[in-house]
Amino acid sequence: MERIGAHSHIRGLGLDDRLEPRANSQGMVGQPKARKAAGMILKMVQEGRIAGRAMLFAGPPSTGKTAIAIGMAQTLGPDVPFTMIAASEVFSLSMSKTEALTQAFRRSIGVRIKEETEVIEGEVVEMQIDRSLTGATKTGKLTIKTTDMETIYDLGTKMIDALAKEKVTAGDVISIDKTSGKVSKLGRSFARSRDYDAMGADTKFVQCPEGEIQKRKEVVHTVSLHEIDVINSRTQGFLALFAGDTGEIKPELRNQINSKVAEWREEGKAEIIPGVLFIDEVHMLDIECFSFLNRALEGELAPLVIMASNRGMARIRGTKFRSPHGLPVDLLDRVLIVSTRPYEEEDIAQIIKIRCEEEDVTLTDDALTVLTNMARDTTLRYALNMISTAQILARKRKVDKVDVEDLRRSYAYFFDEKRSVEWLKEQQVEHYR
Ligand code: ATP
Repeated sequence: MERIGAHSHIRGLGLDDRLEPRANSQGMVGQPKARKAAGMILKMVQEGRIAGRAMLFAGPPSTGKTAIAIGMAQTLGPDVPFTMIAASEVFSLSMSKTEALTQAFRRSIGVRIKEETEVIEGEVVEMQIDRSLTGATKTGKLTIKTTDMETIYDLGTKMIDALAKEKVTAGDVISIDKTSGKVSKLGRSFARSRDYDAMGADTKFVQCPEGEIQKRKEVVHTVSLHEIDVINSRTQGFLALFAGDTGEIKPELRNQINSKVAEWREEGKAEIIPGVLFIDEVHMLDIECFSFLNRALEGELAPLVIMASNRGMARIRGTKFRSPHGLPVDLLDRVLIVSTRPYEEEDIAQIIKIRCEEEDVTLTDDALTVLTNMARDTTLRYALNMISTAQILARKRKVDKVDVEDLRRSYAYFFDEKRSVEWLKEQQVEHYR
């Protein structure tokens, strides 16, 4: 079963080549100014011109701040790191606030590492494996025939296991990566006759002194600075990344890694890709975090920081001062602010339609009108939540289309925020009478 998230319909910003917002594209509707602004910022990120800068999406709840940020991530593609956190995640018992923010920063900086490996390809002529008495260690010989000669390899247990995993037998054509020892099965021996040159521009063949066929292949992988930090600081290496057990990382180690990465950069082995860090509900950060952010943005390895807040004037946490969006003025002064506005009815109806398609729900025309009105009177998010609950009620009635009746019942079961507050007030009156 595919999980349908609140933003799963968003596939980009829906802009054309001139960065003009299309009316309804890539799951995006309305909010043209904010989408265009986001597109312009993205262009600068892609050209590497905006690292270390910050922007703020400010606007009422449910006006698409998170949706636009996700659209930006989708446009950047998988190779550019995009980290998304809610400001409240920064407060935890397992690490300090500044460590949590540092980790988020470093997760948003990619390092594209280039490596050259040599790959040998040939047909397996014979494989002979000797096992130790316990079977724990295996050795053997592998004879591979390349264009015109046979080469014999001494095999160790690791390589034998790799050959066994690929179910390699005599007659197979295999490739062996000389650096990693990775074995891949390419097919049976008829593959020998194929045209090696047709394999792609990045593949060069060189004739080796021994007459072997070798490919020099450039392998590129992108990791984040945070991943390099964790791999080098935890004994379990990269497994710590899966466990989420990254702990605090010592500043000395980070400095070492920074200089190593700088070295790779100079040697042309690595490229830095500044990505994006999105901090939702940024007014939840406190003054210490804000001062950290201000300083960290000046650093050489800083991503583009996008913040979102649905607050107007609010208290800056950790102080008694109030400020726009709950952000200190010195930070506000350096951010590009993009505002999102409440949607027009037409846009709301479009978003509801897109969500219905995404959730595989059909509404009658009347139900669409009612739901659009509901979104106007409550919030867009509440109305979007009603889609799936009403569908369950429609299914119970054994009908395919969600109708007004299902929405009414769903509305009676589930309160929106306004009604919930009213109900609480009534309860209090009852209670304390
Ligand atoms: P909050 O301030 O409460 O966090 P927000 O401004 O981040 O709200 P979203 O969560 O982005 O609001 O929007 C609410 C819902 O509406 C989401 O499901 C989102 O994907 C959808 N949505 C919002 N704007 C658009 C849009 N312009 N096009 C398509 N879907 C949208």
